[in-house]
Amino acid sequence: MQESKCKVIAITNQKGGVGKTTTTFNLGVALAKQGKRVLVVDVDPQSNLTTYAGWYDENELKYTLTDLMEQSMNDDEIKIKESILHHSENVDLIPSNLSLSALENSLTYAMSREYTLRNCLSSIKDDYDYILLDCQPSLGMLTINALASANSVIIPVQSEYFALRGMTDLFKIINKVRRQINPTLKIEGALLTLVDSRANLPKEIATQLKDNYGSILKLFNTQIPRAVKTAESTSSGGSVFSYDKSGRVANAYSSFAKEVLNDGKEHTKNATAKVR
Ligand code: ADP
Ligand code: MG
Repeated sequence: MQESKCKVIAITNQKGGVGKTTTTFNLGVALAKQGKRVLVVDVDPQSNLTTYAGWYDENELKYTLTDLMEQSMNDDEIKIKESILHHSENVDLIPSNLSLSALENSLTYAMSREYTLRNCLSSIKDDYDYILLDCQPSLGMLTINALASANSVIIPVQSEYFALRGMTDLFKIINKVRRQINPTLKIEGALLTLVDSRANLPKEIATQLKDNYGSILKLFNTQIPRAVKTAESTSSGGSVFSYDKSGRVANAYSSFAKEVLNDGKEHTKNATAKVR
């Protein structure tokens, strides 16, 4: 991969409903508030990120990620600049729709199938400080494409019982991608989401995480609280920063962005360790 100052982060967890999309958009806006140039990419055919950012009607979308990946597969000119939408909170978006699901199937037979997304993004990397990839809830080809394009991974973990089930499978895929495609891929850390502050659960999950995966996965200090207004913000066309400006979740995503900007410096020692 060409050396670039842009940091590409995949927000991934094969479980649905853990806060990937909410984190992608609000982290994106929070980083933009810190003066960073941010692009968020909807790598999920369910296209919740596209909706969250306020594009509700897929007929309005001239180009989606499907078109770009198709163009890449066909060796055509990739119309990436034409596909980028500008959100009023200073983040850019590459949108998606359900057609991405059929594209994922056709990837199976494509040449360089793991590199299709990376190839799409290569020409615009210098325009951004951060590119955040909102992954789908599976470990299929689209997620592998995201991991192949990324410098690092953030894993949102929902504060619930059995939150860490499936984590080993995720690490296996990450390690396979490192071995075969993207050797410098780092795990940035796990972010505890949907936290109910009255419960003991977050502490238990933090302990479990430390006991089972402590050598490879740090937990970010910031926890994202559960708040009804956050769920409501997803149909407002704006982030929690515009919908619930001084709310706890906006504050939490602000602190989280600072941790991401700080680059997990004290944890880099462990970040590339491998799971057997
Ligand atoms: P994923 O992308 O992992 O499937 P989402 O970000 O879509 O998860 O979140 C799942 C659901 O939980 C959505 O309905 C979203 O609005 C809601 N949600 C996410 N974060 C919070 C939060 N901090 N407080 C309340 N609801 C939230
Ligand atoms: Mg999602």
